[in-house]
Amino acid sequence: MAAAKTAQEKRLKGIAAAPGVAQGPAFVFLQNSLDVPCYQVAEEKFPEETRRFEQALLETRRQISQLREAVAGRLGEGEAAIFDAHLLVLDDPALIDETLQTMRSTGYNIEHAFQVVAEKYIAFFSKLDDEYFKERVGDIRDVSIRILHNMLGLSRRTLADVTERCVIVAEDMAPSDTAYLEVGRVSAILTDGGNRTSHAVIMARSLRVPAVVGLRDATTQIHREDWVLVDGYAGLVIINPETDTLERYRQLERMHGDFERKVMAEVGTENVTADGMPFKLSANVNGVEDGEAMAKYHAAGVGLFRTEAVFLRQQQQVPDEETQFVAYRDLIAAVAPERVIVRTLDIGGDKQHSALQVEQNAEENPFMGFRAIRYCLENKAWFRLQLRAILRASVFGRIKVMFPMISSLDELLQAKAFWEEIRTELRAEGVPFDEKIPLGAMIEIPSAAISAELLAEHCDFFSIGTNDLVQYMLAVDRGNERIAHLYNPCNPAVLQVLRHVITAARRKKIEIGVCGELAGDPSFAPLLYALGAGSLSMSPAVIPEVRYLLRRCKKADLDELIAKVYAETDTQTISAILREFADKRLV
Ligand code: PEP
Ligand code: MG
Repeated sequence: MAAAKTAQEKRLKGIAAAPGVAQGPAFVFLQNSLDVPCYQVAEEKFPEETRRFEQALLETRRQISQLREAVAGRLGEGEAAIFDAHLLVLDDPALIDETLQTMRSTGYNIEHAFQVVAEKYIAFFSKLDDEYFKERVGDIRDVSIRILHNMLGLSRRTLADVTERCVIVAEDMAPSDTAYLEVGRVSAILTDGGNRTSHAVIMARSLRVPAVVGLRDATTQIHREDWVLVDGYAGLVIINPETDTLERYRQLERMHGDFERKVMAEVGTENVTADGMPFKLSANVNGVEDGEAMAKYHAAGVGLFRTEAVFLRQQQQVPDEETQFVAYRDLIAAVAPERVIVRTLDIGGDKQHSALQVEQNAEENPFMGFRAIRYCLENKAWFRLQLRAILRASVFGRIKVMFPMISSLDELLQAKAFWEEIRTELRAEGVPFDEKIPLGAMIEIPSAAISAELLAEHCDFFSIGTNDLVQYMLAVDRGNERIAHLYNPCNPAVLQVLRHVITAARRKKIEIGVCGELAGDPSFAPLLYALGAGSLSMSPAVIPEVRYLLRRCKKADLDELIAKVYAETDTQTISAILREFADKRLV
């Protein structure tokens, strides 16, 4: 299976983010850099090169004008003015003439000539100590990258280019990148950045492939022709492994396979603990395409439908009401009679969208910035389309709706008031929808967690988003590999808050679930269940393992686990207690 290896074995150590052992050829995916070819062209080809340049300029103009129009309609002429500056760059005769001149004098291809000229201008303007010219640097850079992409016939490099089963090596992965990944084409995922809750990892778990993140320089250490062995248990990456390394790992691969078969054998059995207490394991999904995995692993409905996935599939425009309606309806109908918890748009942070992103680009702190419900409440035209589409789709099954990133009661009430406005609007139009949709809040910001009792008065349910809650509680950016060791949910402060929210919800008699990655983590699932989180929602593929584990738990053991964990103050000790509890039952 392994390719012949001539290069020397090399090891990289990162963060073990998704378990398993896998190997394959590397697919190095560099989003931020563009390989501009450089070659000589014969003089008689100059007209052809010039034509390609002109076409790229026209296409770039069309794209920028389209963006300008979208932004002007949504945010007004003031905000759209940036694109006028971009269009001015396109009109700049110096840039155009000089590019053609460079091609003629050097004989190099037009992309290379253009890159040389653009870089000369960027270097020149960068040196000037003037705000106006500094802004021009950004404009020239943006426009020239767009022109180069168009000349090279690349809309944007995507993972759709992955055609054979391989190990994906990337700087980092945005949800819009992972949307292209297909089961069967990916052996493992490696990233320079990120930590255990980054989207690359969520994706790896749902594909059931190992992932190692926070490798820092994997994209420079690993090359296209390298054979890569990935140990997702130890967070180890072995480039061009020697024969005896491969032999040792074959044994680990076999053990992993045995474990898989064991947990899969219990799919279809009842979701009850060893002493008969029921538990509910639902799925985190991006759309109807996850239906197959849900059925395979017997998910009890959808605990988190990340609706932004519908937006991220298409970067250049915002899906209209009809497109959204179809996407929501298809999933809701497929999952019926089980319920789908639809989360309203959670855009921003690391979920960027070209047609929606304008302000986010400028943010210094996107995770704490203009995202999710904050974005929606200020962009009611988009939000309206989404709520209409969700309500219209509600008659095709059973849904609940929740708002992400709620940080205060005021925000929750604003979201609910807008929801009410849209319901009134649909009633007036005679459009049918489910009148009894429960409304909930995601609890993922410390202020919301602390005021859980207050929010519970106005919610039908809560869903705890531990991915964000942990990052905000500990002030540890969930995507920053340098501080990934500090992203530790075993921190007693996090455990106190989790217990506080679950207890508050139960006291106020509203439903409570967890949909962050901790819900599907064997170390945490028993504790969350023991604390009273009735439903745990996770990537469908991890459901069998959590089911296997909870089926081996008893109330008395779970009570003891809570007592032990909450008596401890040391993060490492807590982590060891939780791991031991899981390991004992996963044998
Ligand atoms: C979370 O924050 O835990 C969550 C489920 O939301 P996301 O990962 O989409 O931010
Ligand atoms: Mg979140």
